[in-house]
Amino acid sequence: MQGTFRLKKKLENILFILLCSSLGFYIFFCPAFKIFADPATLLKLHRIFLVNDSYDPSTGDVYCRVPDSGKEEVEAAVTAARDAFLGWSSKSPQERSQIMNKLADLIEHDLEAFAQAESKDQGKTITFARTVDIPRAAYNFRFFASSILHHTTECTQMDHMDCMHYTVRTPVGIAGLISPWNLPLYLLTWKIAPAIASGNTVIAKPSEMTSVTAWMMCKLLGKAGIPPGVVNIVFGTGPKAGEAIVSHPDVPLISFTGSTLTAQHIRERSAPYCKKLSLELGGKNPAIIFEDANLDQCIPTTVRSSFANQGEICLCTSRIFVQRSIYNEFLKRFVEEARKWKVGSPSDPTASMGALISKEHLEKVKNYVKKARAEGARILCGEGVDSLALPTRNQNGYFMLPTVIAEVKDESCCMQEEIFGPVTCVVLFDTEEEVIKRANGIKYGLAATIWSSNVGHVHRVAKRLQAGLVWTNCWLVRELNLPFGGMKASGIGREGAKESYEFFTEVKTITIKH
Ligand code: NAD
Repeated sequence: MQGTFRLKKKLENILFILLCSSLGFYIFFCPAFKIFADPATLLKLHRIFLVNDSYDPSTGDVYCRVPDSGKEEVEAAVTAARDAFLGWSSKSPQERSQIMNKLADLIEHDLEAFAQAESKDQGKTITFARTVDIPRAAYNFRFFASSILHHTTECTQMDHMDCMHYTVRTPVGIAGLISPWNLPLYLLTWKIAPAIASGNTVIAKPSEMTSVTAWMMCKLLGKAGIPPGVVNIVFGTGPKAGEAIVSHPDVPLISFTGSTLTAQHIRERSAPYCKKLSLELGGKNPAIIFEDANLDQCIPTTVRSSFANQGEICLCTSRIFVQRSIYNEFLKRFVEEARKWKVGSPSDPTASMGALISKEHLEKVKNYVKKARAEGARILCGEGVDSLALPTRNQNGYFMLPTVIAEVKDESCCMQEEIFGPVTCVVLFDTEEEVIKRANGIKYGLAATIWSSNVGHVHRVAKRLQAGLVWTNCWLVRELNLPFGGMKASGIGREGAKESYEFFTEVKTITIKH
């Protein structure tokens, strides 16, 4: 059935896009964007790859096709990246910075087109794409274009030996960058920007489920002045294209954002080559709400931290611990606020939530709610409780209401596993000591939120929580200069101005006897 459909579509649509930018060869067939093939390039390269279907999550229809690249394309990209390395790494930081700022200008110039594409491809609301994803993608280039100008190295003296020592930093070489589907261009550029700012060339792979904005960005690379071979984007699946990057002997460094399970696989595959790894993985983030919290601020923010981007942000809150004396009031007000969130077509500017990424993912998320119900938990709103009204054209889309679960045990899979959807659990606690232990009682350690007006609570609890990021009385206020990343199964390494620079460079200590 699927095969017949694909074949029919292939015959129906004879317009292919072949793009051979900074080298990755890619063929992208995308009638939705009405972009036409360049027949000359197509003939020259004689390459037509198999394609993967990419769905519009808001309708459930196949709306474009992405290439199914593998070893061969990665090999070509590595060759291009190797050839470009000397030229790019020899440029001054100022020259690289200028080019990256130009790329940021171009993304900003096309912000609306990028936002529309991201929203359609991923299912997120147009408002979120317009105000978060694309501005941040442009800012990632600006940020690292600026920070690269300000690094210094160390120097120490050893007068009794007539020696001085200093360090130099050099780019690592070809960086392999792999990103997930939830914040497609935002996270891909968060890796590309520091890598190229530091003088590396890159092979980057976006998620096969959300390739469109990466492909759009490819068209801007040349215009920005990025030389061919510096940024090579390979489109394809994890097991084929991703695996080929991870196990390529000439890619000494992998920066990966995605699931903990895939990261385990990447560690195994890259181990024989001793690759440098940065792993940004899943989370199961607690919010701890003490009885002296300002609920007027806490409740809307915690609803947002639970359901923003359909709950598909690694930093979303999914376990809410509320102190006993305010538990009932909190629950009532929290559910009222969650019910105000409108689920609708991603293009609807009044929608707070769009569609989830895929049919399979929607089923997975709904299954967690089923399991919670079977375990005796109470579903207070959302899935199975409230009805979801959608426009006719979105009836087959992957939508789900914000869902709040109460009276769920800490051992339940809903409290232990990353759901990565619009589902949050609310439980009560009595003491500070107890809540720290329970909040830490999972395998993940990415982010946490504390709500209290007692500065002592805030400092004590923040220090003891096993999380790479702790927000108090706020959520998702990011300072890109400072380290970002998780503990335990949430990752290895940190990203940020200094951390990313250190990751994407090798340090060498040089001793001079005088
Ligand atoms: P995923 O692990 O399935 O895929 C991530 C990327 O890895 C994709 O590009 C995929 O094609 C690729 N991949 C898959 N298998 C591979 C393999 N064998 N070898 C190499 N590459 C492979 O994750 P996802 O479902 O796309 O994203 C959701 C996950 O990402 C969630 O767990 C979420 O918490 C996590 N995430 C973490 C952060 C963070 O900063 N910590 C940010 C966003 C998302």
